Amino acid sequence: MAIASINPATGAKLQVFQALTQAEVADRLAQAQRTFEHYRRTSFEQRAAWMTAAAGVLEENKQRFGELMTLEMGKPLASAIAEVEKSAWVCRYYAEHAAAFLADIPAQTDASRSFVRYQPLGVILAVMPWNFPFWQVFRFAAPALMAGNVGLLKHASNVPQCALAIETVFKAAGFPEGTLQTLLISADRLADLVADDRIKAATLTGSEPAGASLAAACGRHIKKTVLELGGSDPFIVMASADLEAAIATGAKARLINNGQSCIAAKRFIVAEAIADRFEQGLVTAFKDLTVGDPMATSTDIGPMATPAIVQDLDRQVSACLRQGAKALMGGNVAALLDTLPQGLRSGYFYPPTILSQIPPGTPADEEEFFGPVALIFRVPDIDAAIRLANSTPLGLGASAWSTDPSEQDRLINETEAGCVFINGLVKSDPRLPFGGIKHSGYGRELSHQGIQEFVNIKTIWIR
Ligand code: NDP
Repeated sequence: MAIASINPATGAKLQVFQALTQAEVADRLAQAQRTFEHYRRTSFEQRAAWMTAAAGVLEENKQRFGELMTLEMGKPLASAIAEVEKSAWVCRYYAEHAAAFLADIPAQTDASRSFVRYQPLGVILAVMPWNFPFWQVFRFAAPALMAGNVGLLKHASNVPQCALAIETVFKAAGFPEGTLQTLLISADRLADLVADDRIKAATLTGSEPAGASLAAACGRHIKKTVLELGGSDPFIVMASADLEAAIATGAKARLINNGQSCIAAKRFIVAEAIADRFEQGLVTAFKDLTVGDPMATSTDIGPMATPAIVQDLDRQVSACLRQGAKALMGGNVAALLDTLPQGLRSGYFYPPTILSQIPPGTPADEEEFFGPVALIFRVPDIDAAIRLANSTPLGLGASAWSTDPSEQDRLINETEAGCVFINGLVKSDPRLPFGGIKHSGYGRELSHQGIQEFVNIKTIWIR
């Protein structure tokens, strides 16, 4: 894929970037290693001062950075600005807590003194996706840099301007030259890059094939990886649920970020007793939302980030319909484009869509629907709900709605996911660990656990 900014709302090519040459990549890698040699010796106080300054740079430039995200990947501007603010939050969070999270831990043994010390690993490669172009990078960089590591960022090829802007944030905050550098390169160069001794570990957020490929390359060189891959998150609504709240949150949970979020609610698993009312409510909530130019304040849902996403959704939805699913709304790209102003008709829009009565054997069983498509399944009871929730290869998040404490207990204990939110929307929060199980990946970001992924947990024993 060319490294290019293309406005997904119009299809207009804004800027094309040359990939770095081999020599330029070698220079940046050498710089990263040089920086690590002295950066690792800086104090937590010093790093916290730089990280707090980075939060300030983000906040001062939130309008500009927000517009850049909207321009390159199409999320509504208000949510892009909120993403910059959230990125500042994670910087401040780790500036405040990193020293405590990585303090020595004493242990009573046969030594006169023994303890655990956390030390940085070195240069960490971060391969990041376009869907939250700032947040995904900062939630890696804030803990990794506070731990004393340095970072190389290979961002998605469709958000190069965001990638370059992120590099400038760290420079403007006063971090030493080379603490976080952007590499504008294609993904096929990563296997060679991770073979280099100076790269100590890697993290990837994105699709399963990309994660498997990077982890395989790292595995050949015995390097640790953290993978945050897709989700096909269930949104379970039991008969005891507060239905109005479940509907309002369900619509938001499915359509957030134009439906392109790993933790979006993708499969609505609804108790038969309330399913008619849930379906009607969800249709009304979806119809209330405006699809259009993501820069306009009146827009709730912008375009998909790339034409490939529209094609994938079209294939997935068409397959479900062919096999007998019913579209309660949406599913027709041409009909949506007809309603949009002329200037947006070459944009990558997909209509908010709700499918119900989906038979087994469709892509809904196994695949992630990465766009504004809600899949509704009816179940007779909680056993069937949990069985269906767990029937996918993925296991990222789950949102479950019930006011019955015994049902809540079962949903918490039996749902196969990295997180369960009861009566709420699945979201990431610096104060809580984030990550998946099964094919959704491994390792954790954020919180105490996140900062301990890229450190040497060193055992010290003194006679
Ligand atoms: P990818 O997984 O292809 O891209 C994510 C990042 O991985 C990008 O930086 C990409 O670089 C890089 N990458 C791609 N292939 C490889 C590889 N073989 N080895 C190492 N790195 C690689 O996501 P797409 O944008 O293509 O989206 C495809 C699907 O992935 C989506 O429809 C969705 O299902 C899922 N996805 C999930 C996300 C999540 O948040 N969990 C985020 C984005 C996508 P480059 O851009 O240069 O190809």
